[in-house]
Amino acid sequence: MSPTASTADSAFLRIVDVVKDFGGYKAVNNVNLDIAKGEIFALLGSSGCGKTTLLRMLAGFETPTSGRIILNGQDLAGLPPYERPLNMMFQSYALFPHLTVWDNIAFGLQRDGLGRDEVASRVEAMLKLVQLGKFAKRKPHQLSGGQQQRVALARSLAKQPQLLLLDEPLGALDKKLREQTQIELVNIIEQVGVTCVMVTHDQEEAMTMASRIAIMSEGRFLQVGSPSDIYETPQTRFVADFIGNVNLMDGSVSVDEPDHVIIDCADCKHYVGHGITGTQGMPVTVALRPEKIAVTRDKPESEYNAAPGTIEEMSYFGSFTVFHVKLASGQMLKVSMANTERHRDDELTWGDQVWAHWSDAAHVVLTS
Ligand code: ATP
Repeated sequence: MSPTASTADSAFLRIVDVVKDFGGYKAVNNVNLDIAKGEIFALLGSSGCGKTTLLRMLAGFETPTSGRIILNGQDLAGLPPYERPLNMMFQSYALFPHLTVWDNIAFGLQRDGLGRDEVASRVEAMLKLVQLGKFAKRKPHQLSGGQQQRVALARSLAKQPQLLLLDEPLGALDKKLREQTQIELVNIIEQVGVTCVMVTHDQEEAMTMASRIAIMSEGRFLQVGSPSDIYETPQTRFVADFIGNVNLMDGSVSVDEPDHVIIDCADCKHYVGHGITGTQGMPVTVALRPEKIAVTRDKPESEYNAAPGTIEEMSYFGSFTVFHVKLASGQMLKVSMANTERHRDDELTWGDQVWAHWSDAAHVVLTS
């Protein structure tokens, strides 16, 4: 998918040529994006890449230097945050400590002047949705971190926003609770059907929760796509390296045939047979995910897609083992193999001379 990822016909949220310039520094640099109704979309990138600034422009806390933000056909320019049909949930939750769970959820509805019965029915519906009915009379400090997070979500959804913005929604939770809460959060958001844009620097969180992800760097979108698109077919070295583990091998095209290319790297020759067009001599980088490589003692039959090396390190993770195989050039190849019966019988161990090998379809060839 292209970085602009246009789905114009079904776009519910449109971000068009948006720039945010802070005194000469473009924190967001000409971003374009269409998001469909009901999507959970993640802005993912390392610290300072501009993701929070983009989210804050959607919320109305920052004004774009140029460009437009259109939600459900309405241009949001000039609308203050409280007049936008959206709600933002912050990492800190910002629950009122002196109010009960019920009153925390009711607060915004009462402030908006909704009638008593309407407030009660919405709060009850939200408590049911986040499965906290029996905690309604508790104060935030009497809840676990995950429960507080669900109260914050209930409060954000009670006003029935058209768009829900989540800023590092699970950043305050420890790892185990975060993984469990990711799934709960997605279930709740999907039940309500609200369109959601979330900001995170945690790739697992983005992969687990979002239907599509934008990888951001220096204010720009490098790639937009589904989690599997981005993992399986990264378009640049940066994206391949940013998402998951990867082995990157630099080389150049030595054979360029209509149905395949051969790429020579320091330790091996890659035979790539899937829709690659190269020019002889062109410098490229081959990206190989660790789980697409196998390690065996025996030399494979083919001269391609295989490299000899020595097992320098092995880490057992129960269902799989990670090997670090040192190749002749000194490059360390990371290999992740499932611990099937057959593999355990091989009894590979530290210091063994082995062959790392992979299939013709395992490569991603990067030119930038
Ligand atoms: P983090 O994950 O650390 O929050 P981020 O990707 O969300 O990072 P932003 O907070 O959007 O990044 O910041 C992007 C860049 O813009 C940073 O270099 C930051 O210093 C700068 N920046 C953000 N807000 C302002 C501001 N109000 N004035 C000047 N520069 C700012």
